Amino acid sequence: MELLVKNGFVYDPINGVNGEKMDIAIKDGKIVESVNERRARKVDASGMIVMPGGVDIHTHIAGAEVNTGRLLRPEDHFRDFEPKTAITRSGVGCSVPSTFTTGYRYARMGYTTIMNPSMPPLEAKHTHEELNDTPMVDKATYPLLGDWWFVLEYLKDKNLEECARHIAWIMNSTKGYAIKIVNPGGLEAWGFGHNVSSLDDQVPNFCVTPREIIRGLCKVNKLLNLPHTIHVHTNNLGTPGNYITALETMKCVQDLATENKPVIHITHCQFSSFKGDDWRTLESGAEEIANYVNCHSHATLDMGQVIFADTTTMTADGPFQYNLHELSGNKWVNHDVETETSSGIVPFRYKRKSYVHAIQWSIGLELALLIRDPWKIFMTTDHPNAGPFTSYPRIIAWLISKKAREASLKRINLRARNRSLLDSIDRELSFYEIAIMTRAGQAKALGLKNKGHLGVGADADIAVYNVNPERTDSSRKYKTVRKAFKKAAYTIKDGKIVVKNGEIQKHVNGATMWLNVQSSELAEITDDMKRRFREYWTVEYENYPVAENYLGSSNPITVKASV
Ligand SMILES: [Zn+2]
Repeated sequence: MELLVKNGFVYDPINGVNGEKMDIAIKDGKIVESVNERRARKVDASGMIVMPGGVDIHTHIAGAEVNTGRLLRPEDHFRDFEPKTAITRSGVGCSVPSTFTTGYRYARMGYTTIMNPSMPPLEAKHTHEELNDTPMVDKATYPLLGDWWFVLEYLKDKNLEECARHIAWIMNSTKGYAIKIVNPGGLEAWGFGHNVSSLDDQVPNFCVTPREIIRGLCKVNKLLNLPHTIHVHTNNLGTPGNYITALETMKCVQDLATENKPVIHITHCQFSSFKGDDWRTLESGAEEIANYVNCHSHATLDMGQVIFADTTTMTADGPFQYNLHELSGNKWVNHDVETETSSGIVPFRYKRKSYVHAIQWSIGLELALLIRDPWKIFMTTDHPNAGPFTSYPRIIAWLISKKAREASLKRINLRARNRSLLDSIDRELSFYEIAIMTRAGQAKALGLKNKGHLGVGADADIAVYNVNPERTDSSRKYKTVRKAFKKAAYTIKDGKIVVKNGEIQKHVNGATMWLNVQSSELAEITDDMKRRFREYWTVEYENYPVAENYLGSSNPITVKASV
């Protein structure tokens, strides 16, 4: 099982490799120093770009919410389906693809690791069933813990150590990867038809505030030594004027950072960078957010880039989804997961000629271009909320080419165009910076040691794109680049060639990564906890734990907690 990727222009930012021509040697699924050149199978990457496999920090691809989205939208499937081949299974889906199609489409673009960002603990088994069913990529999922009753009670009592042990238990039990917080406090309030609107509002019945939830879980995250930071969908998401909430959310954990390490990830920040008092006066708050992020190093962000397309919005943010349903008049699903979280789903079309949608489109790109350090902002569409993940090559084109941006700017709503900051931004990202925003930075933020780079010992997850960086003026030939990133020349997963010229060559399952958090005092299921499970839920606590053999291919990552 030896493979040699020869002669490519290698972009490996974690190891400081910037477009150098070199060979990458692979043995038994890992990157090694060298292999026997005569014996090894060779991949000729001459004149092509070689990068680590793509990593997606935030993409809704599995679980009850996604599956409900599929049920809600037969029209989404009719116009986009994939027939069965000798290697691949059939599937459907434009904005909410079926599991197999999801895996194939990521692999075709050179992606090898994807993270599913919202899993109600009660629905962990369903989520893992669908992750098992998503081939070609490694994956993980984040349990929703910001409005979980146990957490709210521990935080009310200021009992952080107990809260940490409890979350260690939840992480192990649900086979989760990171602490996800969505509209902290707002989801609990939504259970009573309310919401919260500031970091200092009281959460009904719990005497805690969103600020205390964010800070508390940020401290818990540190006590547990989790590889990723808390992963936060801010309060007031999708509301004009909310850039202030996003700034306050980052500021509220500023003092918890040590050694310039990030302690918070603000996800799909585009949706939290709105300036203005209402939809009519909506403006971009990207400059304010970027100024803050440029001056601080405790926060990372992802874009949540809007794509002008028909898509399906789905978040745990029940009140936001209700507002979107009211605004659009589109069909809507509301879901309450008892004592844990909520969720909502609404189909949505982003239109070029809509002032609001065009401003949103501009905000995402402004954030990515105005934040100077690409290690702080990553490329996502919050799939499928702002657009399907299959649009990533288009975003790459906008980031590397001012001409590509101008071509789109010409076609958007005129008032939005006049207000967009894009005209004044000349920055065009290099392939090195693209490699950071689409794999290296994401892997680093997630604490995935063997991913996002091509150093010795890394997983042999590699993407080869057929574009010559020496001969291609990417600023002018952005369409060539877009095409190359749409169909990888090769995708290599664990040392196996799984995609060639954008076609699937081989089916692999990919593993589910999860955190095996070890705390000094084993988080025990006490009689008191059992009693509370019985009191709070209509199901017994035995329904929660997901056994390791429930995962198709389990890849536990051991974490030693400080509690
Ligand atoms: Zn999301």
